[in-house]
Amino acid sequence: MRYLVISDIHANLEALEAVLEAASGDYGAVLSLGDQVGYGPNPNEVVERVQALHPEHSLLGNHDIAALGELDLELFNPFAREAAEWTASQLRPEIRAHLESLEPRSSASAFELFHASPRDPVWEYMEAPWQGPPNFEIMVSDLGMVGHTHVPRIFRDVHGQVRVVEPDAGEVLALAPGQRLIVNPGGVGQPRDGNPRAAYAIYDSDAQTIEFHRVPYPVDITQQKIRAAGLPRILADRLAVGY
Ligand code: ZN
Repeated sequence: MRYLVISDIHANLEALEAVLEAASGDYGAVLSLGDQVGYGPNPNEVVERVQALHPEHSLLGNHDIAALGELDLELFNPFAREAAEWTASQLRPEIRAHLESLEPRSSASAFELFHASPRDPVWEYMEAPWQGPPNFEIMVSDLGMVGHTHVPRIFRDVHGQVRVVEPDAGEVLALAPGQRLIVNPGGVGQPRDGNPRAAYAIYDSDAQTIEFHRVPYPVDITQQKIRAAGLPRILADRLAVGY
């Protein structure tokens, strides 16, 4: 099976459509790692679009929880808080009900999925090698997938030694026996690695590979919508620089 792996769409419909168009015909199932809403101007439309893909797994992220009013917004920076309050005011009842049905973790026989990290599926930003061992320790399979940081990243555990790399666009990672991985596809709707293009990955469970992809989208349209909605301007500005 070829899985389209998407995360952190953040209500950015243009970025999501660009990813679906670029990956069209190249996958048979979808894995969504959470934060479908928050920051961006199209929360209802994005949740509906993802639902229509019938994802095999769809996770709940911290911004989704915030939009449901189930998170202490003091934990957010002022811009994220303002966006969460705006998003909460926009969500239609059936969209809320759908988000409320999701969990921040899920698993299948060959992989485990977490919005943020295995040991803290809602909040931990997996960035550095020292975070590898305590997280690999509680995984039962050899492949974990996470989102949350909006940066494509590979944690590789070879006999207890953890290395972290940030894969380039187009890079293909080969899975190998005896090697455990935690992989982040990067963010669809608000990339934070200095590259404004929407990020996604394709996990091929037969070929045992993970491909990292980037695709451009009309950033200016999303920016206009963010400003028109009265959301903080910085949330529009940052999309142009990928941070
Ligand atoms: Zn996010």
